[in-house]
Amino acid sequence: MKSLTQIYIDGAFVAPHGTQVFDLISPTTNQKTGEVVLGDEQDVDAAVAAAKEAFKSFSQTTREERIHWLQRLHNAVAAREAEMVDSMVSEYGAPLAFCKASASYAAASIRTMIDILVPFDFVREAGKSKVRLEPVGVTGIITPWNASNSFICNKLSTAIAAGCTVVIKPSEMSAAQTQVMMEAIHEAGLPHGVVNIVNGVGDVVGSAITRHPGIAKISFTGSTAVGKSIAKGAVDTMKRVTLELGGKSPNIILDDAELGTAIPMAVFGAYMNNGQACIAPTRLLVPEDRLAEVNALALAAVKQVRVGDPKDAATTVGPLVNKRQFERVQGYIRLGQEEGATLLAGGEGKPEGLEAGNFVRPTIFTNVRNDMRIAQEEIFGPVLSIIPYSSEAEAVQIANDTTYGLAAYISSADLDRARRVASKIEAGRVCINGFSHDPHAPFGGFKQSGIGREYGVYGLEEYLEPKAILE
Ligand code: NAD
Repeated sequence: MKSLTQIYIDGAFVAPHGTQVFDLISPTTNQKTGEVVLGDEQDVDAAVAAAKEAFKSFSQTTREERIHWLQRLHNAVAAREAEMVDSMVSEYGAPLAFCKASASYAAASIRTMIDILVPFDFVREAGKSKVRLEPVGVTGIITPWNASNSFICNKLSTAIAAGCTVVIKPSEMSAAQTQVMMEAIHEAGLPHGVVNIVNGVGDVVGSAITRHPGIAKISFTGSTAVGKSIAKGAVDTMKRVTLELGGKSPNIILDDAELGTAIPMAVFGAYMNNGQACIAPTRLLVPEDRLAEVNALALAAVKQVRVGDPKDAATTVGPLVNKRQFERVQGYIRLGQEEGATLLAGGEGKPEGLEAGNFVRPTIFTNVRNDMRIAQEEIFGPVLSIIPYSSEAEAVQIANDTTYGLAAYISSADLDRARRVASKIEAGRVCINGFSHDPHAPFGGFKQSGIGREYGVYGLEEYLEPKAILE
């Protein structure tokens, strides 16, 4: 039984002032595995005070000094990769392969930030003036439970590259993952106060960060609903905000695509991270005259999906993070049937033999209309909606008919055609013929999927304030 009783402030592990205890429950068994003591507003005050003090000198560090600290952070995080994988698998039930990729990505994102920092121009010219890009100030980092440490590493390394100091509030549901990260950060030996971590719930610690006058910027990853409340709260102190929010990403299969490859890939993509991924391609848009063929291929693909213990390397879909999320997804599976979509695979209830955990039957709806709630709302579970279209123009119209705009996917045998379609899609990232990732390319949402961008030069600029010097 884990007992996590400390937070990290001013370079030291300390007992929080807060006393609320949160139970850690395994999603695989629904048995209690530990407890975490949560922080409160006073802990946020202490963390902000440390970060403000550290900002005085850290904001003045040179590029070389920041590269040095990033390199140390990278080494410390890379050394903890195996523990990160273990904590992810047991804490929120993501399959082993996903956790391995996510943990190695966490360290790699720090390395990438060094590559971006090396040639980055902190002084530019505009007209006759010099423009200095200066660190924005103390940054509040608020993250979700899914792939928690990779979000923390990406945001933290960008803040360090910019010369900012931080107060991090991870999800209370990722306390075991956070513990590994806290220890790695401590081992990196950064100057005291540069990184502070306060465990806590959103409406206590998260909203204290949102309101705090000592914080200049918030970088948030999470749901659109919480993102909106952070943006509203942040405006009173005119904080800068970067919001990475939800999605309902379209996956357009054009009529010249090789269905035998595209459809199985679409099914496995929709179920990535047990369907709990903001970029999951959950709306599969297919030519209506090939719907029967698509349905047959999707059905064959879903039979290959292996639901089970996430520790087993053969498992492709593990349990959902908690009972509440399980019930929410069950509700959407019921709703899809009530709305008149055809249930092609899966359905309500748990797979046989997996009754103890929050396991969902991998579900596919076909003949879905884009105005149905299952096609408009983020379900965050292994549920795919197949939506037929009659022409390329209609495919684009359906793809864009959503309040979200995080990611989109296009499959076609003709690259120029796919690029032409990509130019009409309202999303921050469009992947052609696969699920590629480029850590140098900006990441973020159009519309209600967010504000601002992360990664690469675009991400770094969000932590900097331009100051014009006119002589
Ligand atoms: P969530 O929005 O419920 O919580 C995210 C974080 O915000 C947690 O740390 C939570 O404690 C905190 N929080 C909650 N209420 C708050 C408040 N009032 N003030 C300040 N902070 C508060 O999201 P979640 O359930 O942890 O994660 C799933 C959501 O995250 C999905 O919607 C998913 O699409 C989104 N997400 C987005 C991205 C992206 O990069 N765009 C990546 C992963 C997840």
